[in-house]
Amino acid sequence: MVGRRRTVGRDARRSGLGALRVRKGVACAAVGEGRCGALVLSICSRFGVVVLLCCLALWTEYLNLKIGYNNARLVELSSGVAMRLFYEFSDAFFGFFGEPVAAAQANAGMTWSIRLAGVPFTDPLALLSLALQDRVAEVGFVLGAIIPLALASTCGRVFCSYICPASLLFFSIGRLRRRLGDFFYFPEVGANRGLAWGVLCGGLALSLVAGHGVWILILPYFAMGQTIFHSIAFGTLSVALFSLIACALLDLFLGYQFTCRNVCPTGRLLGRIGSRALVAVRRDASECVDACTACADVCPFRVNPKLDETRDCSLCGECAVICPTQCLTLGGRKK
Ligand code: SF4
Ligand code: SF4
Ligand code: SF4
Repeated sequence: MVGRRRTVGRDARRSGLGALRVRKGVACAAVGEGRCGALVLSICSRFGVVVLLCCLALWTEYLNLKIGYNNARLVELSSGVAMRLFYEFSDAFFGFFGEPVAAAQANAGMTWSIRLAGVPFTDPLALLSLALQDRVAEVGFVLGAIIPLALASTCGRVFCSYICPASLLFFSIGRLRRRLGDFFYFPEVGANRGLAWGVLCGGLALSLVAGHGVWILILPYFAMGQTIFHSIAFGTLSVALFSLIACALLDLFLGYQFTCRNVCPTGRLLGRIGSRALVAVRRDASECVDACTACADVCPFRVNPKLDETRDCSLCGECAVICPTQCLTLGGRKK
């Protein structure tokens, strides 16, 4: 493998930009050689989060039925046979873990604040907003922020590529934009770091006046969670859907992953917390091709691994897949 890698590196260096023309072939080779692990994992884990959000909405419905009726026959009379089957299945499922109501309540919430198997997870932004507004925060809420903050400090924006459900939408819009780019012109508006900080300050100020609900319209992943919850638990559309549509349009017409790079305050905050992350993309400079810019071009957060940049890296692995000489890996950051 090492010998082959060296040969590819020499060929790529010799051919310079020619290496970029075979980018598609490189990506295909990456699939064959199993270099897509991080990318596949990141896509699968985000799908998993979407499924989890759907389950949380269903479990809320189960809790309502359990507390309201606690009887399968009554559930059928009030909501139909399908709901009875769902109720019985949930009863058996949660009964497997102990007392059904307690087991269901140990798994509840949304991306903003969630409890899984009784372990709380809190969005650091939620904590900030709550602390500013109420000047005091529940102990469980504070403890819930420890894991997300530790994750951001060690692995940077890993939340963006492995957990954030909204990023799946932006990932898809990015690919659509590339496809449509063959037929239409789409401008690429430059990144502006200050905008997301402005959105963060504006959101905090607005939440002081109008309450925490404003974050549903500001944070794309919160909007995604609300949209899923409303459609499953209530059978209605949430106003958050309009916020998601607006973000999708920004991505389509203003730039690749525009919302994540310029607007989302959580992305900017995580990037700042993880600016000295221990794990990031690493480059073997001896194998890098002078005329190549493939890694920077493909990066959703416009990190440039060629310049050994790591700030804002989400460990998505897209650059490692596209690199013609396989000189990018994800691992401990260089000193
Ligand atoms: S920047 Fe925001 S919306 Fe984009 S992936 Fe990260 S958390 Fe999700
Ligand atoms: S530098 Fe590579 S691994 Fe990091 S975010 Fe960009 S494409 Fe993903
Ligand atoms: S590290 Fe980036 S610039 Fe260097 S060869 Fe790989 S893709 Fe090209």
